[in-house]
Amino acid sequence: MKKSVMPDWVPLEEAVPLDLFKADVHAWARRLGVTPREIRLRPMKRKWASCSSQGRLTFDTDLLRQPPNFRREVIVHELLHLKVPNHGPLFKALLKAYLQNR
Ligand SMILES: [Zn+2]
Repeated sequence: MKKSVMPDWVPLEEAVPLDLFKADVHAWARRLGVTPREIRLRPMKRKWASCSSQGRLTFDTDLLRQPPNFRREVIVHELLHLKVPNHGPLFKALLKAYLQNR
């Protein structure tokens, strides 16, 4: 997910603990019925997250300082790529559905 989607809010003062973030990703993965091969965090300049064709997800460490709603959006977006690799109508419909029914 590209950083052209820049949030217009001030980042949180306290970062979410890494374990908590990863637990969130795992919980969403179960809900979506996908199994990421690996979940890691590292600083990224142009993306909030990326997904390799082998199912490895990488999240920007800045994400730990973003509000819960935005974190959830990025997590669900990236996990959904394990089901739908593009941003077509199916992807958009599923993303909307998962973000609404939580
Ligand atoms: Zn995407």
